[in-house]
Amino acid sequence: MTQKQTRTQLAACSSQLEGSAELQATAKRSYVMRKAYMDHAATTPVDPAVLKAMLPYFSVAFANPSSLHSAGQEALAGVKQARKKIAEILNGHEDEVVFTSGGTESDNLAICGIVNSVTQPPLLRGATPKGVGGSIPHVITTEIEHHAVLEPLNHLEKTGKIELTKIKSGPDGVVNVKDVLDAIKSNTILVSVIHANNEIGTIQPVEEIGKGILKWRKANSSIYPYLHTDACQSAGYLDINVEKLHVDLLTLNGGKVYGPKGIGLLFVRRGTKIQPVLRGGGQEKGLRSGTENVPGIVGLAKALELTHAHKQDETARLEFLRDRLIQGLLRISKTRLNGHAEKRLPNNVNISFMDIEGEAAMLYLDAKGVQCSTGSACASSSLDPSHVILALGMSYEAAHGSLRFTLGKSTTKADVDYVIKIMPGIVERLRKMSPVSLDMKHF
Ligand SMILES: *Cc1c(COP(=O)(O)O)cnc(C)c1O
Repeated sequence: MTQKQTRTQLAACSSQLEGSAELQATAKRSYVMRKAYMDHAATTPVDPAVLKAMLPYFSVAFANPSSLHSAGQEALAGVKQARKKIAEILNGHEDEVVFTSGGTESDNLAICGIVNSVTQPPLLRGATPKGVGGSIPHVITTEIEHHAVLEPLNHLEKTGKIELTKIKSGPDGVVNVKDVLDAIKSNTILVSVIHANNEIGTIQPVEEIGKGILKWRKANSSIYPYLHTDACQSAGYLDINVEKLHVDLLTLNGGKVYGPKGIGLLFVRRGTKIQPVLRGGGQEKGLRSGTENVPGIVGLAKALELTHAHKQDETARLEFLRDRLIQGLLRISKTRLNGHAEKRLPNNVNISFMDIEGEAAMLYLDAKGVQCSTGSACASSSLDPSHVILALGMSYEAAHGSLRFTLGKSTTKADVDYVIKIMPGIVERLRKMSPVSLDMKHF
């Protein structure tokens, strides 16, 4: 097949999809079933335009982008175009974008890749990095990170590979810039601070931390510490310009920005000393081996392009709905908003309802067509209360009674008003059932 023929097929495949009765029927079915999906922080639906951009890469331009024949080059062109688009959005370079399987892998690559680059001597070529000295490397993070950051760091600490400092957040769920900067030592190689928290939506001062780190590096003529941020939750709403944020590493994924799941990326600033975690065919400049997820990469780029274009409008629209929902739910007695009221994502509402089990409330809401979550999605299979809500200084009971509603593109004012209307009844019912009066000291 010539390249021209392939392109014609690409176009045909896309336009066929547009009129697909099957797809429309599926969309309609899911719309009818769902009254109000308010769990966008867990994942978002794939935008139809994203799906459309992806489809040709499954069956028409399906070849391996590493193949030198024309079909391979067609797939490679899709990857290259996606990389270029994403680099523009991040205000970085194309060679700084490393595609991965998602947010978890990107976080692990950032952490293990940087730690390994100083603990595995061959790659240092004899040069001990200034600022690392003779001691084991030190890493700074916060108590309110996603598990994909906390767990690899905990493991490295437990196995004696790193020394770890976890900065506490304030009771408002925001970390203090000075606390982070004051923790930097001569052997600190990495600081990892989430851009916006996935449970309570609080926005962290990454830009200011970045500025402080640059100053520290200059004063100590060191290339360390590097700054990593996990921007999975913020990408749809906040500026993810890597120059403005002064980050060396930045994590993104598709499933939180109306793109596909199972695709993500790590921005790695030029010159950063980092080692791969996955070794093999040497894709992604050797930093992440494995055949590229071409449809996923194309979809991620399209998704980021769309969220980037609609960021301002969508932020304003959702902030209005968020505040309406917060005000409505706080009218219920013995409730409290978790996390700073303003320094929070436009789509996040996290409320503790005293004397109720969050899980039970979530199930009642689900039966009434509202999908939300308790704690984080990853933790909800266990009964451990959320580490983020506990980090705010809340009691176990308050953490157990917390619900997270995360709004998104499909959310309307009517949805919000519906939740405000049904929630008091659910809370009242559950409180009547509650056999014990629980700890009230935080209310
Ligand atoms: C969802 C999420 C992750 C994990 O991403 P996956 O693509 O599911 O691996 C990591 N960090 C944050 C902040 C997230 O919200």
